Amino acid sequence: MRDALLLDAAVGGVLGLLIGSFLNVVIHRLPKMLYRGWLTDAMANLSSSQQVPSLWQLVFGTASAAPPPLVAHADEALQQVDALPPLGLARPASRCGHCGHGIRWYENIPVLSFLVLRARCSACGTPIGWRYPAVELVTGALFALCAWRFGLTLTGAAWAAFCALLVCQFMIDLDTQLLPDSLNYLLLWLGLVASASGLTGVPLASAVWGAVAGYLGLWLIFHLYRLATGKEGMGFGDFKLLAALGAWLGADYLIAIVLVSSLVGAVLGGLLLMAGRLAHKDIPISFGPFLAGAGLVCLAIGPDTVRAWAPFAFPFNALIG
Ligand SMILES: [Zn+2]
Repeated sequence: MRDALLLDAAVGGVLGLLIGSFLNVVIHRLPKMLYRGWLTDAMANLSSSQQVPSLWQLVFGTASAAPPPLVAHADEALQQVDALPPLGLARPASRCGHCGHGIRWYENIPVLSFLVLRARCSACGTPIGWRYPAVELVTGALFALCAWRFGLTLTGAAWAAFCALLVCQFMIDLDTQLLPDSLNYLLLWLGLVASASGLTGVPLASAVWGAVAGYLGLWLIFHLYRLATGKEGMGFGDFKLLAALGAWLGADYLIAIVLVSSLVGAVLGGLLLMAGRLAHKDIPISFGPFLAGAGLVCLAIGPDTVRAWAPFAFPFNALIG
């Protein structure tokens, strides 16, 4: 039995390393794809010359000023964006960001290649960031944990998908302060489907209420904070991410997740301020990484421990149960 568990964990870990390598691509490219899409949309909206005058009239009224010169150049800008080579998750193949050296398959083996190449591009010697093997190792460890706890089953696969999506949101938010809708919604739908198919062990009602309360809870905090301080303390992506976590873990986890993430956020934020890393206190600290991290922590330490640590969750649980 124990040997079988170890074997499951080892298979899960290797799968996790491989998926982690793909997550590196997602983390690197998805924000670029989003930015390019937004630029294309903006220029396309401005360049549709028949529409702009009537839209301008609708927005500014009849006696409006003429559209700014930007509109006249939008066609040109759109052509420039359109002329770029296509960018997707599968294409183009990975290249060194410095010299353009195409990365061969044996240079792309999770963690191992990083060690063999001594953290440098084989062509130009530019250092490769430690974050790439770190993402692979963390994903590998999380997949091994899922396989250890749930076996090589559909349940294990569901929780592994949960981990993979949270790793992406953690890193993307850290890099860009974005939490892409495409990943948040995927996480949310999968959580509801996993609950409805009995994979997560969370009753469907608890998953639905977890999603609703996760979104509304942060939405409420956001507006109260803005009323009190005039500042925006978090982004709408945070609401969606907590909604998704609520769908996966159930409504009774929400308070624990928010507590864990706020605690980690406050401690890390304080440390960064003290270390002088945050020169401007008004720069919003991403909340997403702490939410994603708290979701992973809750999965890792298990439902019973969380319930024991967060007795406040019980009254809430009674309300919905
Ligand atoms: Zn290079």
